[in-house]
Order: sequence, then C-alpha cells, then structure tokens
Amino acid sequence: MVHFVGAGPGAPDLITLRGKNYLEQADVIIYAGSLVNPQLLDYAKEGCEIYNSAKMTLEEVLEVMKQAEAEGKTTVRLHTGDPCVYGAVREQMDELDKLGIGYDSCPGVSSFCGAAAALDLEYTLPNISQSVIITRMAGRTPVPEKESIESFAAHQATMVIFLSTGMLEELSRRLIEGGYSADTPAAIVYKASWEDEKKFICTVGTLAQTAKENHITKTALMIIGDVVQTSEYDRSLLYHPEFTTEFREGKKKS
Ligand code: SAH
Repeated sequence: MVHFVGAGPGAPDLITLRGKNYLEQADVIIYAGSLVNPQLLDYAKEGCEIYNSAKMTLEEVLEVMKQAEAEGKTTVRLHTGDPCVYGAVREQMDELDKLGIGYDSCPGVSSFCGAAAALDLEYTLPNISQSVIITRMAGRTPVPEKESIESFAAHQATMVIFLSTGMLEELSRRLIEGGYSADTPAAIVYKASWEDEKKFICTVGTLAQTAKENHITKTALMIIGDVVQTSEYDRSLLYHPEFTTEFREGKKKS
C-alpha cells in the first residue's frame, strides 16, 4: 500500500492528523526533499527507510515502491502542500495501477492557503473577487497556450502564481498586458509557515524589484488582486442581520 500524503506548506504541525498517522506507521517514506520540511520526518518510526525524491527519477521512485510492496511494507509518498497542485502524482498512480499496487490520497494544506494565512487574507471578498486562479508561468516546463497569464489577468480575479519567482519581470509585464494596472496590489510570500517565512506587499508593477531587494529567488507565491489590500468590499450577506438563511431568520429593518 502507498499513501500519497500532503505535507502542508512547511510548519510540521500543519500536516493533517491522518497524514501524521500515516507517517508514524510508514515502513518507507519517499519525500519531496526540495520543498518538504525535513522536520516532518521526525514523525517517522525507528527503522523507517527514508528516501529524498529530489534526487530520484520517477522510475527510481517506483522501484522503491515496488520493492516495499514486495516486502509487504507500507510506503508514504510525501508531497509538499497538497499533492493535487503541481504534485506529479498522477503519473505515479498510473504506473502503480499497471503494477497492481494499491494507493490512496491524503490531502494537505496547500501553500496557497498557507500564504493567505501568512497575510491574514481572504481571497474571495464580496464584490471584489469570487474566484481564485491558480497558475504558473511557462518556464523550462511549458503551460498550455490557452492558459496564458494575459488571458487569466483579463478576469481581474484573485490570482495565485506558483513556480515563477525567477520570472517576475516577465510576470508583471504580462499581467499588465492582460489588463491589470501596474498599481494593482500584489504580495510575495516566501516559505509560508516556515520559521524563515517572509512576506511583502507590493504592486503588480513592483513584483520583480520587491523580490530582488529582499533576495527572494524561489519557494514563493505571488498573489495578485485587490483582495490583497482593499477595504472597499461589501460585507457578506450570510451574516447580515436582515438576510434569512436556512439556519437563521433575518430581522426586518426597523
Ligand atoms: N503541491 C504544492 C505546490 C508544489 S509546486 C502545494 O500545494 O503548495 C512548488 C511551488 O509551490 C514553489 O515553487 C512555490 O511557488 C510554491 N510553494 C510551496 N511551498 C511554499 C511555501 N511554503 N511558501 C510559498 N510558496 C510555496
């Protein structure tokens, strides 16, 4: 059995209870060492075999899983944040299917949620934005052309941009070409929830400069949109005294 587990954004107490239980029981742990906080490995039991997938190919990862399965062992495949976002889990699962090895998935707190927590931010403010676009720039690995930054920028919804810290000048330019003004609020969150977390509020036009001044080159998320700074949002109807819901009778305005 292989458990795909989301490690959370970094802080070791931001893994789920289920994920922690799996780590404590695992005979083998394969963790994404480029981003998973190694402190999470302290949950492993004595004698657990630990592999860092940052130094391995997909084939090598599968070989470890295959071997563990042959020996009747339980494997945890530990991915940063939630495995469903840029986790490269599907390709592992498809191969496990071919090998007849069972697996399941345990969610984690994605870094985009960790980053919102770092800033005490609500991505979906009434009348400002009710959608969050999670995307990345095309770099050494491509992004489908129909998912260009410009096309998403045109929505003026909240955007959270992964895996793009080294390309911020291009990101700013393309956000502006897509319709954001240069003074649209933006934020950079580096290593959300880690001990050395850093966060900066800036604008679409000053993303690259802000990163440069603060020596941020990787492990960061860029958050774009008015939700980063506005105070002009509408209050939610759900908690409005005059609004009736399934659970609460609204009071008429006197
Ligand atoms: N599955 C992960 C994302 C993996 S892609 C998740 O759900 O968060 C790796 C990218 O995620 C990094 O380049 C960075 O953009 C972002 N990232 C991961 N952890 C982060 C953290 N703690 N703080 C800020 N960004 C993070």
